[in-house]
Amino acid sequence: MEKAEPIEIMNPPTSNSPWGKINSTVETVSLGDIMSEQLATDLQSKEDRCCLTDVPDVYPLNLSDDYECDSDAAIARALQLQYDKEYDEILKRTENKFNGNSKVSISYSKYLRTPNNLDFDSDSEPEEEIDDRHRQASEKAFMQIPRCGYRKLGASEVAAAEDDSQQQNSTGKINLVTKHDMTTAGRRNACRVMTAFPPEVCTGDGGGFDMQLSNKVFNSLRAHHQSEAKRRIRVADKSERATCEQCLDPPTRLLLLKLLDGGTLKTIHGILGTGKEAVVVHAIGGPGPDPDEHMNTWGARNISIPDECAIKIFKTTLNRFKAREQYIREDYRFKDRFKKQNPRKVIHLWAEKEMHNLVRMQKAAIPCPQVVILKKHILVMSFIGDGEPNRAAPKLKDAILTPDQYVSAYNQIVDAMIRMYRDAELVHCDLSEYNVLWQSKEQRCVIIDVAQAVETNSHPLAKSFLMRDCENVTSYFIKKGVKEAKSAKELFFEITKKVREDESDKICDAEIAVA
Ligand code: ADP
Ligand code: MG
Repeated sequence: MEKAEPIEIMNPPTSNSPWGKINSTVETVSLGDIMSEQLATDLQSKEDRCCLTDVPDVYPLNLSDDYECDSDAAIARALQLQYDKEYDEILKRTENKFNGNSKVSISYSKYLRTPNNLDFDSDSEPEEEIDDRHRQASEKAFMQIPRCGYRKLGASEVAAAEDDSQQQNSTGKINLVTKHDMTTAGRRNACRVMTAFPPEVCTGDGGGFDMQLSNKVFNSLRAHHQSEAKRRIRVADKSERATCEQCLDPPTRLLLLKLLDGGTLKTIHGILGTGKEAVVVHAIGGPGPDPDEHMNTWGARNISIPDECAIKIFKTTLNRFKAREQYIREDYRFKDRFKKQNPRKVIHLWAEKEMHNLVRMQKAAIPCPQVVILKKHILVMSFIGDGEPNRAAPKLKDAILTPDQYVSAYNQIVDAMIRMYRDAELVHCDLSEYNVLWQSKEQRCVIIDVAQAVETNSHPLAKSFLMRDCENVTSYFIKKGVKEAKSAKELFFEITKKVREDESDKICDAEIAVA
C-alpha cells in the first residue's frame, strides 16, 4: 500500500469508514501526467488527508502532532495499538473481577499486549544503561573504614542505618560500623566478586540493585574459582607432559635440541626402527659436547662421537611399565632406586640399564653398539650400519643369508651368549632374530636391545630367562636348516657349564679350607 505507483487513479472515499465503498469513477490521464512526480505527490497527500479525516470518526485515536502519519503502515500500527489498549483494559477488568478482595490474587500481566514503554518511533532497542550507583556507593563505604577496622557514624548515617536495621528487624543503637558489619561485608564481597575475579569468570554486572553476598557464598565462589583455575592448569600441563607413543613429546624434543646445541649431534635424520619400547632414530655425530657444561652427564667426558649415531628414545607410554617391572625390580643395581621412583622415572632407569649393560658387553668383547651419551630416556649409541652411509644393518629376521652364513651366525650368537653369561654376567632376556643385526659386509652379528638384560647372579629368574633365550635361538636356527643347532637344553648347559664347574671348584676349595 505504501506509495504504490497509481495506474488507476481513484477518488478519495466518501464514506466515513476507511474500508467503505469506493467510488470507482476513473479519470483518464495521459502517460506524461502519470510519470509526473508532482501528480504523484498530489495524489498521495490527497489520500493521506482523506485517511486522517476519516479515522477519528470511527476510531478515537490520540495521534499527537509529531506523530508521523505519512503511510498506511503507520496508520495500521496506530490502529493496532488502539486495539491492544482496549484488549488490555478488558483483561485488567477481568483480573479485578476475578481477584475481588481475595488475599491470593492472580495476574494476567503476562498476557498484556501493550508494554508500558512501547515506542515504535525508533527501530533500535533502547540502550541498556548499567546502573553502577550501588556498587560505587558500597565500594566507597568500604573504603571509608579505616585500618583500625571500624568507623563512627555521623548523625545522618546513624538515621539511615537505623532505618536499615528496622527493615532487617534488628534492634539496638548503631553509632559505629565495623568491617565485620553484615551489610558492609556483604556489599564488600559483592564488590570483590566484580573486581577481584579475572575477566573470564562470569559475574554479571551487579548493577541496578544493592547486591550483597554473605561470606559463605563469597568463599565458596572463590574456592570454586580456584579449583577450576587449578584444573585448567593441570589440563594444560598434562597435554604438555603427555606421554607419547611415537616418543617425540615436547620434553623429548627439548632434550634432542639440547644434544644438537651442545654439539653431541650434528643432524637428526629419520626413524631407523620402532620396537616395543623405543624408537631408534638415525643421526650424524657432532664435534662433541662441552665437557664443562655436561659435568653430570654420563659419557659426556672424553667421548669420541662416531660419524653416524643411533638415538634410542624410550617410549614414555606407561602401559609397558608393568612388563618392564620384573626385569628391573630384582636387579640389585637398581633395586633401591626402583622402589623410590615413580613410573615416569623408571623409564629413565630403563635407559640407564641399557647403557650399563652395553658397557659391560663392550668390556666382554661382545659385538654391540657403543654407548655415546645418555640423557634421561634418550640413549645415543653408535650406528650399526650395513657398509654404506645411512644404511642400517637389517635384523637377522629380515636378512637373507646363505646356509653357511646361517651356521656362522649361529656360532657367533652362541659365542655371544656364553660371553654375556660368563664374562659380562648378564642374560639378555629377549634374545631372538629381532634383536640381532646382521652386518653383511663384515658377516657379523651384533646384539642390540639389552635394556631388559639382567644380572646372572642376583636376579632370581636369570636362569629361566636364559632358558627362554636358548629356546628362541634354537628354534630360529633349526627353522633355517642349521643342523649344528643344539637343542635348547643342550645350549643352556653349554652356556652355564663352565660356571657350574667353576662353582663346584670353589665349593671344593672352601670345603678343603674348612677341613
Ligand atoms: P626395542 O626395545 O623397542 O625393540 P631396539 O633396541 O630393538 O628397540 O631397536 C629397534 C630397532 O632399531 C631395531 O630393530 C633396529 O632395526 C634399529 N636399531 C636399534 N639400534 C640400532 C643401532 N645401534 N644401529 C642401527 N639400527 C639400530
Ligand atoms: Mg627390540
